Amino acid sequence: MAKPKLIAGNWKMNGSKADIDTWAAHIFAGEAGATAKKLLPGVSDSENKAEILLCPPAILLDHTGKALKTTGVKWGGQDCHAEASGAHTGDISTGMLKEMGCTYAIVGHSERRQNHGETSENVANKARAVHAAGLVAIICVGETDDERTSGKAEDIVTGQLKNSIPDTATPENTVVAYEPVWAIGTGKVASAEDIAQMHGIIRDSVTKQVGDGVRLLYGGSVKVANAPEILHTPNVDGVLVGGASLKAEEFQAIALAAQKGAKAV
Ligand code: PEP
Repeated sequence: MAKPKLIAGNWKMNGSKADIDTWAAHIFAGEAGATAKKLLPGVSDSENKAEILLCPPAILLDHTGKALKTTGVKWGGQDCHAEASGAHTGDISTGMLKEMGCTYAIVGHSERRQNHGETSENVANKARAVHAAGLVAIICVGETDDERTSGKAEDIVTGQLKNSIPDTATPENTVVAYEPVWAIGTGKVASAEDIAQMHGIIRDSVTKQVGDGVRLLYGGSVKVANAPEILHTPNVDGVLVGGASLKAEEFQAIALAAQKGAKAV
């Protein structure tokens, strides 16, 4: 059965409890206990045309869960540790994410790869832990500007896929996000042709590794102005949205654009 498109928001290290409340209140038009149908008509309803996910900072997950629990909007982690528990000061386990009601966890975001030196092997171990906890891993890949201009984008991305997707991956427990590093937070968006080309390559690679039906997200300066075109690009099964997900109005409009698209894989 075809899966719904996935519209995921990544708040990174932004936001507060009050921001979560403002976001939820805007989306719910202030109606306590409003259903997902009211929230995003035709998006998160029983026709399941799109799945909506918010990944706030870990410290806000408990509050987010309370704010979103009756809505059909899901929440998830931005990262996790590969181990189930232990002496890992400051880290978060997948069991902790699960206890907070998360159903997804992002792993291998380029900001983790760059700022924390995470390798694809680390990412695969984290994804394996996500799977072991019964959550869905959103595994991020993407080339830098230099890698693209030197013609290495395809090799970099296929290498990351090969080494970041663990053998526990199935089309149900894994989503892949293609996020060209040069497009993240920069306002530069890959062209529809570039996205179609790279997503075609990713599709072939992921199908060989995992099988049919893995959803492929695009991420990198997605906004309401470019979301409809991106969401209609072949092999794009949703979007991972950073900056624009902080603004409820913008994120809601992106989610609504998804309902006009075809089903995902
Ligand atoms: C991201 O953080 O995954 C992202 C795509 O950020 P932005 O939308 O701000 O480029």
